Amino acid sequence: MPLSEFALIERFFVRQSIRRGDVRLGIGDDCAVLLVPAGEGLAVTIDTLVSGVHFPDGFDPEDIGHRLLAVNLSDLAAMGAEPAWATLALTLPAADETWLAAFAQGLFALAQQFGVQLVGGNTTRGPLSVTLQAHGFIPLGQELRRTGARPGDLICVTGTLGDAALGLAVLQGRAQLSDPHRAFVLRRFGRPEPRVAAGQALRGLATSAIDVSDGLLADLGHILTASGVGALVELQHLPLSDAVQVQRDLELPLGGGDDYELCVTVPRGAFERARAAVEATGCRFTRIGEIQAEPGLRCLDARGSPYLPAVTGYDHFADTGR
Ligand code: ADP
Ligand code: MG
Repeated sequence: MPLSEFALIERFFVRQSIRRGDVRLGIGDDCAVLLVPAGEGLAVTIDTLVSGVHFPDGFDPEDIGHRLLAVNLSDLAAMGAEPAWATLALTLPAADETWLAAFAQGLFALAQQFGVQLVGGNTTRGPLSVTLQAHGFIPLGQELRRTGARPGDLICVTGTLGDAALGLAVLQGRAQLSDPHRAFVLRRFGRPEPRVAAGQALRGLATSAIDVSDGLLADLGHILTASGVGALVELQHLPLSDAVQVQRDLELPLGGGDDYELCVTVPRGAFERARAAVEATGCRFTRIGEIQAEPGLRCLDARGSPYLPAVTGYDHFADTGR
């Protein structure tokens, strides 16, 4: 007999090991009741993953669960916020227990890692689509906005760029890689690691921040627009994994989405402190360019010649989107 909506929620989503003291009332009533620490703001973000749009049909449900939480934690990371709670809206074609068990496994493994408690949600039937809202805390006035980049600031990124786009290309049969590189990029696409600790470490140091979900140029472009500045990016400094390096295709790190690394600006004098703080969280922190007063985004290749990128990122509603 198929599971009822309530049996499904009880079976897969009520049982979780994280029990936070700031959850006065969790799953099971009309609303959750939650306590925000005094002096802190509540950072709230939501993302939807649609089958066939954000992941291929038939994609590993454990990866979907991980990714759904990861992309939201990445937004909290980009504000410098500390994750606390999540709510989950599921639209499922059927109550497939194998699928749900794997999805919950992926979601809760990451939730456990970051101390996030699922406090509510909604379950409906329809074409596969999953939405999660994440909530976190940020001391008032310390959030990392997109608006603070100033001429002379250095542009820096965490981790490496282009891996997830290469992973998607592998999944879609557009790229052939050696076995270790293949495993690496598939993991980077399926299991992004939100840079939560790095984001918090950059509080008080970064002048602006964004997470790279649509591609470096597109997301850096949002900082430039919001801050009313321009940028020069030196392509020889882009941090690339070996897997991306051997592709010799700059469009991967410049235009490829789904990496969920952070792109931030820091005043020149704060760079070494920022790098030490981020590296202490276990990821690379690389300076790739600088903010300039003149609007627009300029790229220089290794010889110092201007480079015109073919793509500038993923826009869901642009004619040229994928
Ligand atoms: P309501 O009709 O009052 O919105 P529901 O009957 O939809 O409540 O849900 C019952 C309880 O289960 C609520 O506390 C809701 O937050 C929770 N819930 C529903 N779906 C999910 C889900 N997919 N994950 C977590 N909690 C859920
Ligand atoms: Mg209700």
